[in-house]
Amino acid sequence: MKVRASSGVKTQTKNGMIQPRSFRVIAGPCTVESFEQFEASARAVKDAGFSYIRGGAFKPRTSPYSFQGLGMEGLRILSEISKPLGLKVVTEVMDPYDIEDVMEHADILQIGARNMQNYSLLKRVGEAIRGTEHGVVLKRGLAATVEEWLLAAEYITSSGGENVVLCERGIRTFENSTRFTLDLSAVIVAKRLTDLPVIVDPSHAAGRRDLVVPLSKASVAAEADGLLVESHHEPKEALCDGEQALSMEELMNLRATLSPVAKAMGREVI
Ligand code: PEP
Ligand code: MN
Repeated sequence: MKVRASSGVKTQTKNGMIQPRSFRVIAGPCTVESFEQFEASARAVKDAGFSYIRGGAFKPRTSPYSFQGLGMEGLRILSEISKPLGLKVVTEVMDPYDIEDVMEHADILQIGARNMQNYSLLKRVGEAIRGTEHGVVLKRGLAATVEEWLLAAEYITSSGGENVVLCERGIRTFENSTRFTLDLSAVIVAKRLTDLPVIVDPSHAAGRRDLVVPLSKASVAAEADGLLVESHHEPKEALCDGEQALSMEELMNLRATLSPVAKAMGREVI
């Protein structure tokens, strides 16, 4: 396999998102729905002791009739609420046209599973973040091999982008008891083939709240460098992915729940 995806920094990012011997938790709602909703979510992420928040302003929805996100207004809400709380923002960019705006309001650009093979987007993001502190979370495509995923990351790194983090978020299989199938072996394989950090999104993989915490623990044990997890202050009211969002109580307990496993792996939950 001809894969070189390397930031030149062993399993960490230069911007501090991923640090050695740490397990980074990025939590927050699937989507920015309103100022009030995101504020409640952000306070919960802060109270739970985490410093990175996720939330989509541009949403890749399967149906064109589903809520598509607040777009520019969502970006403004993200930064207006997160900055004073000292939270770093992770949000998806779907269109090269929006890269500049997303970079203005977010610290980390997420490239979603459906765009993993959008090579012009990957190149443009790599060029845009070159020489900046911005990072990228690159989701694995729903049906992408590890090799395709790592080569997609190389589109970003070879265009000048550093601070690239891979994210396993479940692949499509015949199994239908979960939304997708979390492929933890891919996490381990990817970490053997590349220096890039690898995090796990157990929320989209499972599609159901009751599996998210057990899969998070398994991710720590599988040598992942962190977690991208959905949480909502009122999951039943969520406009998107409420079934898989951690409740506030689960979010508040997450650090304590993961800590013994992280300790066994020689890591600290941050
Ligand atoms: C998300 O993180 O909200 C998302 C849409 O993820 P994915 O691209 O993995 O489906
Ligand atoms: Mn989601």
